[in-house]
Amino acid sequence: MSTDVTTSTPPAVRPGRLWIGGAYVDAQDGATFTIINPALGEPLTTCAAAGAADVDRAVAVAKAAFVDPAWARMTPLDRQRILWNIGERILARVDEIAAAETLCNGKPIFESKYIDVPDAAKCFQYYAGWVTKIAGQTLPLSTGPFLNYTRREPLGVVGAIVAWNFPLLLASWKVAPALAAGNTVVLKPAEFTPLSALLLAECAKEAGLPDGVLNVLPGKGSIAGQALVEHPDVAKIAFTGSTAVGQGIVKTAADTVKKVQMELGGKSANLIFADSDIDAAVRGAANGIFYGKGEVCAAGSRLLVERSVYDTVIAKLKERAEKTPPGDPMHPKTRLGALVREVQMEKVLGYIAQGKSEGARLVAGGERQPVNGKGYFVQATVFADVTNAMTIAREEIFGPVLAVIPFDTEDEAVAIANDSVLGLAAGLWTKDLKRGHRVAHRLEAGTVWVNAFNRYDTATPFGGYKQSGFGRDMGPEALDGYLQTKSIWIDLSEDKA
Ligand code: NAP
Ligand code: MG
Repeated sequence: MSTDVTTSTPPAVRPGRLWIGGAYVDAQDGATFTIINPALGEPLTTCAAAGAADVDRAVAVAKAAFVDPAWARMTPLDRQRILWNIGERILARVDEIAAAETLCNGKPIFESKYIDVPDAAKCFQYYAGWVTKIAGQTLPLSTGPFLNYTRREPLGVVGAIVAWNFPLLLASWKVAPALAAGNTVVLKPAEFTPLSALLLAECAKEAGLPDGVLNVLPGKGSIAGQALVEHPDVAKIAFTGSTAVGQGIVKTAADTVKKVQMELGGKSANLIFADSDIDAAVRGAANGIFYGKGEVCAAGSRLLVERSVYDTVIAKLKERAEKTPPGDPMHPKTRLGALVREVQMEKVLGYIAQGKSEGARLVAGGERQPVNGKGYFVQATVFADVTNAMTIAREEIFGPVLAVIPFDTEDEAVAIANDSVLGLAAGLWTKDLKRGHRVAHRLEAGTVWVNAFNRYDTATPFGGYKQSGFGRDMGPEALDGYLQTKSIWIDLSEDKA
């Protein structure tokens, strides 16, 4: 298969460093690591690697910034203005940030520039609006003459640890509500993709955020991430990543009774009923798995199709998959980029081999397809005749691999969809209004799209049911997750003479 997307000349990027107290610094032990450009399989640049000593330093700086009047006594209106302006700075630097994202992650520049980076800006501007509306209650007590009121207060230092698939956006989903609530943050971006988080820190400083309120520590999860989770002065860990790493973090966080928020993996079901707009459903299903090269937590990786339209849907999916060849991620027309790393590509190819050996029928893709002879690209892949017992239907593949499963009845479709330990998102396609609501209510998932897939808006919460996690990013619920409630009692009884 040939590709019509030619190689572009990537813009130069600066090496990454640690961002502590509003300035770049090196790791105390001088450690660095190499960032790879997955589209070329070659080094992009280097980055400082935070160790436990750097975590100690960043947490101390964030702890001091939390009580510093410059932040702690800032008026809500001023904090609101800074959050709004972070969004403005992100938009002003969209080309630079989008390039950093694509060069580290391999996602099409189309996605970085028109979706990820603008959505990150919107996230800060949405939470800017909340800053002036964080309020407690006045409560009527029956125990005596008291004035009782509650205050909604920040937690302290928040540790944010995020995955590499939407580096800036996942960071923004945590940093924006955490700052809106008045916390300070130490952000540990994924080792593969630290550059956009550093640019976010620069934008925040340009917008007037006081030094030390947001700190960014590139480095390894097993070292910097682990030290952040263990640190006694970190009040909460807001995590996005795999279920396996999340399980370890929950256990470690128990030692210091940290609050934890877990945004974990998915194996999301997408249900096509025979009464749906089939072309729209196929478009949505293809987008649901090939967008972001399938390295998307909510990817619609299990497609459940009513048997009477099964063959039609498979034929249309095959056509769409074959019209979506991998291309140079920096080319504006590319819609299928490079997988993030060789190890991830090998994992995805391993699942494809397993799908074949377990008896699924490969109808499109299935191969590695280098672009200009390089990079970690895998074709848009479709498997038909999958059963929900097969490995490719049970485990999160995190690649552009769709497993298509037939069903006969609505009850059967719901049962298959819910037969998973994960429950991040789900979709369904039907023209029957009653069925749309009914099935949406029955699906065990934190988000359900009806006649749509992969839609996000900062105003509505996103997060998992079951082993896909707990707590929510975005919406008013995310803000709640960065606040705690204090009850204040004022004795109003008359002084006894
Ligand atoms: P991961 O391996 O779990 O890593 C996530 C983050 O945790 C990275 O920053 C990682 O650092 C760090 N980490 C690793 N070990 C750690 C430890 N012992 N202590 C503290 N931090 C540690 O996940 P990933 O491979 O980057 O991302 C893919 C996964 O994220 C998928 O399962 C996907 O579904 C999930 N995800 C979920 C959502 C959601 O909203 N629910 C959104 C996006 C992605 P390193 O970079 O050094 O490994
Ligand atoms: Mg990982």
